[in-house]
Amino acid sequence: MANEILQKYIREFSSLRIDRAHGNAPHQPVLLLSIIEQIEQGQIENNEIPPSPHLVEVFLKYWNSITNRKPNIALPFFHLKSRSFWHHHPNPDYEKALEVVTQIKTFSQLRKIISHASLDEDLFALLNQPLEREILRKTLIDKYLPHRLNEIQRIISEEQQISGFSQELLNYVQHEFSIELDEPIESDKKIREPGFRRAIMRIYDYTCVVCKLQILTLNGESVTEAAHIIPFTNSNNDDVRNGISLCKLHHWAFDRFLFSVDESFYVTVSDLMTENGPAEWKLASLNGKEILLPEQQELYPAKEAFAWHREKMLSQ
Ligand SMILES: [Zn+2]
Repeated sequence: MANEILQKYIREFSSLRIDRAHGNAPHQPVLLLSIIEQIEQGQIENNEIPPSPHLVEVFLKYWNSITNRKPNIALPFFHLKSRSFWHHHPNPDYEKALEVVTQIKTFSQLRKIISHASLDEDLFALLNQPLEREILRKTLIDKYLPHRLNEIQRIISEEQQISGFSQELLNYVQHEFSIELDEPIESDKKIREPGFRRAIMRIYDYTCVVCKLQILTLNGESVTEAAHIIPFTNSNNDDVRNGISLCKLHHWAFDRFLFSVDESFYVTVSDLMTENGPAEWKLASLNGKEILLPEQQELYPAKEAFAWHREKMLSQ
């Protein structure tokens, strides 16, 4: 019986729609590979698959290694609905809209209408079992991307390490915070940098802690970056309490000590710069504003780290 169920989904995965008009763009297989990976990492629980910036990041990583065509995660996320194993769940007040809409072309439109997708319970259960998960993953690769096998296996292995490291960083808050570490927690830069970013984005949900903007492109790419409070080169420290999420402008300004954060988590802006332009966009307008803090207090940025940063700002 269990085998019959597995066979059923092998057949389903072998008959996905490939956009032949656009040179066999493998949107649906790549989305499913990304979802399988997130299930494997424990990042999709309870069979709820939201169209999240994190899913987009994984999708783009696969996509860009496979093809140089333009990616669009909204297409497969929406059109998989023609498969019986894929179910959409609307956001409140969008039930009717979801019933009548025939296409969704952008990530932002997708996020507006759809809260999450889910898989058949049987399929979700299979994907939570290592052996069956590998069989289904291999079905997708063999059928749609056989010439990319090595590349995909490399990504899968790298992603496992990145997720493992990111989880390790989130668990690391059980240690007492120290400003400098003798050795980095992870030495491989290819794992270290995206792992730190992943942990910080999980805490701050792709939102700049200073201006509170969360900007995602139509493709789901984000403006926010994971910033070290004490630069990594000075501290070797990827502790999430030595990190915050900042938009590109505020990351740039923070790294140049044009503003800092005080012991009560309020922004303090340097006056050692010239700023011209509309008052509401100036860095000076951030002075005295509280930064966005994580829900869990144990994940708060370290006051010692901000003290180091403030000291630098004042000694400029
Ligand atoms: Zn910002």
